[in-house]
Order: sequence, then structure tokens, then C-alpha cells
Amino acid sequence: MFIPLIMPLFRMAQLPYHGLKILPFDKIFICANMQIRLTDGVDMNNTFTPGVVPARLGTDELQENFTDLHAPLSGHEAAVAADRCYFCHDAPCVTACPTDIDIPLFIRQISTGTPEAAATTIFDMNILGGMCARVCPTEDLCEQACVRELAEGKPVEIGRLQRFATDKLMNKGVMPFTRAQATGKKVAVVGAGPAGLSCAHRLAMLGHDVTVYDAMPKAGGLNEYGIAAYKTTDDFAAREVDWLCSIGGIEIKHGFALGDELKIDDLVGCFAAVFLAVGLGGVNALGIAGDDKDGVADAVSFIQELRQASDLTTLPVGRNVVVIGGGMTAVDAAVQSKLLGADTVTIAYRRGRDAMSASRYEQDLAASHGVKLLFNVQPKAIHGNGAVAEIELEYTATENGKLTGTGEMIRVPADQVFRAIEQTLATEAGLKLDGRKLAITGAGRTSLAGVWAGGDCAAGGDDLTVTAVAEGRDAAMDIHATLMGSN
Ligand SMILES: Cc1cc2nc3c(=O)[nH]c(=O)nc-3n(C[C@H](O)[C@H](O)[C@H](O)COP(=O)(O)OP(=O)(O)OC[C@H]3O[C@@H](n4cnc5c(N)ncnc54)[C@H](O)[C@@H]3O)c2cc1C
Ligand code: SF4
Repeated sequence: MFIPLIMPLFRMAQLPYHGLKILPFDKIFICANMQIRLTDGVDMNNTFTPGVVPARLGTDELQENFTDLHAPLSGHEAAVAADRCYFCHDAPCVTACPTDIDIPLFIRQISTGTPEAAATTIFDMNILGGMCARVCPTEDLCEQACVRELAEGKPVEIGRLQRFATDKLMNKGVMPFTRAQATGKKVAVVGAGPAGLSCAHRLAMLGHDVTVYDAMPKAGGLNEYGIAAYKTTDDFAAREVDWLCSIGGIEIKHGFALGDELKIDDLVGCFAAVFLAVGLGGVNALGIAGDDKDGVADAVSFIQELRQASDLTTLPVGRNVVVIGGGMTAVDAAVQSKLLGADTVTIAYRRGRDAMSASRYEQDLAASHGVKLLFNVQPKAIHGNGAVAEIELEYTATENGKLTGTGEMIRVPADQVFRAIEQTLATEAGLKLDGRKLAITGAGRTSLAGVWAGGDCAAGGDDLTVTAVAEGRDAAMDIHATLMGSN
């Protein structure tokens, strides 16, 4: 009987009321920090609640915050966007695409009213073209190279057109490719992320039987566990895996980790070829005093929890969040903290803006969500009694190309600190390394005969979804040529 009375009040105060246990009370007062306290002492969380707590926002607001970053184009919008393409000869956008998609051809196919043909053009080069249309930093790749960007500062919207075409075909459940005659060869792929899936699909298409092993209970790699939730909504990563596997000839086995259940020598003995696509599973520690305090966590683990949460109101987030790092992971952790209802979110990066690996677009996205970007600062210590309360940062300068601390310190209030610094290879499987990754030559050949590697775990290339897809595809072609004796 109290619900009708209090719901309008919660709405006025922009506070959550879903899932609340309504307790008897004789009056409500709203504190200066907008926290509502019922007279029996029960508090509800909001943006200003101290500590790391769940439900800072209500279900509706969270749902709205985590909808698609870019709405899909309608048919009319796609036609108008496609009409802006000059269909350039030697198109610079194609050269800038790591998977070499024939962009002018697919845009022409959209403009002539055949989006399914456009999708086939895309998938022919990039079988994860649906995900890449959502997550590619196009502002640094194809769209940056587009001649209309150069001339007018407004490129053809290649990414959104790619999504328009790929969604059309995938929504119909159509797999445009069929398998070649069976070769009788069996190939193992370790890691069901973009590199592994791309390799597996191409090998299956060429007639090989592929077994994909993955340590995790779901396939997709960082598409499933890492990419920001607002870039891939409606369980798209899982739907894409199902669609990709519909070609046949791919068996995915979960709960098999290389180094534990799987040994490289056994795989080499049982399969004609092995492709390693295990990504970068490790995260470096900050290596500063207080790193182990409550509230200090890996950004990747936080994002993974967020991506797998069926109810975002259950996910705790700090009132004051600080993210250490300068890449996409840092931006994603920061923006999503803000979307979960954190009051202040700061990205602290040790170099200047231009050195950040997150693109300018990603930086602006963070700023537009109210994330503060702090440049030229490095973490020195984390303070707090058991749990983090403040992070101490030192200003930096670059002298003779070397980053040094200036000695000037600042302290930023924080009840949650996320590490989003360089990720590391967790399983090297006894193979030769090149720096912190697996050494490869050509299209992914490792130091061990019969073993290829690609994606984030292999040396060279950007750590991007599209690059992983390209490397998986190219390794599959090289494996095929080797197995069929044409190499
Ligand atoms: C938070 C975050 C956000 C990102 N956002 C973007 C973005 O917006 N756009 C973009 O282009 N790129 C983004 N990236 C980078 C992109 O996700 C990666 O470059 C890409 O996923 C690499 O693909 P992969 O197949 O090499 O590795 P992963 O996607 O990491 O897949 C590796 C697979 O191997 C499995 N595995 C790991 N170890 C083992 C083992 N020992 N045995 C068996 N299986 C194992 C894992 O479970 C996983 O399924 C982001 C990365 C992160 C961390
Ligand atoms: S560079 Fe731009 S205008 Fe030229 S083909 Fe590519 S998308 Fe079209």
C-alpha cells in the first residue's frame, strides 16, 4: 500500500525503486547527498553512497545507459550513407582495413539494394565482420583513410554500413559459405576468441575438421568477456559464434586449458596442425605500496563480471573510481563505471594525450560521459585503512625520450582503483618468444614445426579484434597450403 505513495518521490529524486523491500516507515527525509534513509535505518544506494556498492542506479536507468552505442542504420539511412561513397579506384579505405575488405564493392552492393551480397563480400574477408562493425576503431582505420574525411572531415560511415549489411544476413540465419570436400585432416585450435574462430571457420570451409579448445565456459574470447557492453548488445557475441559454427566441421570443447589439461606435444601428436590463439590472459601488477588493498582490481576482471552479469543492479562500483592506464581497456572500465552510477571517474595515464593507445574518439567518448582524463601522472602509492581511500600520483616528464617522475605529487580520492596496464601472455607453451609474445614468422609460424599462432598472443600487429581475425584467417590459409603440400 505504500508503493504508490513513494514511487513518485523516488522518481523526483531520480532514485531506484525496483526490487526494493518496502519497509514500514513514518517519514522519509532526503539527505544532502541524495541518499534516502528510511526511519528504520535502511539505506538505499545512489551515486554518492560511499564505498564500493551495487545498485547506484535503478534497472531502467542502467538499461538505458547500456544500450547500443550507435543505433543501427535504417534502410533509408543506409542508402543515404552509401550514396556518399565515391567508389574510389585503389581505395585508401581498403588499404587501411587489416582484413582488406573490398569496401567500395560492398557499399555499391548496398546502394544497389543487395545488402546480402554486400554481407558476403565482407564475410569473405572477415567472418567476424558483424562484431568488427561494432568494435573496430574505424576512426583510426578505414574511416580515417576515407577521401571524404580528408576533403570534408566527415568520412563515409563504413562501420555502420558494414553493420547494416552483416546484420541483414545474420538475422536471416544464412551462412553464405559451404565446406569444400573433406580433406580428412584434423586441426586443433586453442582459444575460441576472434583469432581462433576466424582460423577455425576458414579451415572448416577448406574441408578440414577443426577442434577448438578453450579454457572458458563460453566461446568468443574478449568479444564475450571483454568488449564494452554498449558496443555489443543483445548477446551478439554468442549469436555470432553460433552463426559462424553453422558452417559445420567445428567442434568447440570448453574447460581445456593449454598448460593444464592440454599439452602442446600431445596436440602436435594428435593433430595435423595446431593454431594457438590464447590471447593475453595475464595483467601486470602496479608494483606500488598498497596495491593489495580492498578495492584494487584488474579492469579486465571488472569488465568480465559486468559482461556476464544478468542483473547490473547487483554489480558493485565505487563512488570515486580511478583507472590506471591509457588503452581501450582503461576507457571501457572508466565509462562503464560511470554508466553504473559512480560519482567521479578518473583515468590516470603516465604520458600525454597523444601517446594514449585509446583513440581520440575513445578519449572524447570518455570525456562526454564525465570521465576526467589526467595525463602525465604515474601511481606511487595506494592509501587507506584496509580498503583503498586515496591514490597518490606523481607528475611525470619525458627527458631525453625517458619517462621520469618530477617529484610533484597529488592525491585523488578513490574507493576503487582499476589496473588497466599492459596485459601479458599467460601460456608460452615452451615456444620461442619475441618480447612478451610468441615469436612468429610469415603467416603465424611458431618456433615449433606444425604449430601456428595468431591474434594478441603472437608478436607483431595491433591488439585489435580485426587484426586477430586477419591473422587467424591468414594462418588458416598457410596451414591449408602446408597440409595440402602446396607450400
Ligand atoms: C577490455 C577490452 C576492450 C577491448 N575493446 C576493443 C574494441 O573496442 N575494439 C577492438 O578492436 N579491440 C578491442 N580490444 C582488443 C580485442 O578484444 C583483442 O585484440 C582480441 O579479442 C584478440 O583476439 P584473440 O583471439 O587473439 O584473443 P582473445 O579474444 O583474448 O581470446 C583468447 C581465447 O583463448 C582462451 N584461452 C586463454 N588462455 C587459454 C589457455 N591456456 N588454454 C585454452 N584457452 C585459453 C580464452 O578463454 C579466449 O577465449 C579490447 C580488449 C580488452 C581487454
Ligand atoms: S575512401 Fe571513402 S569514398 Fe573512397 S571508396 Fe573508401 S569509403 Fe568510398
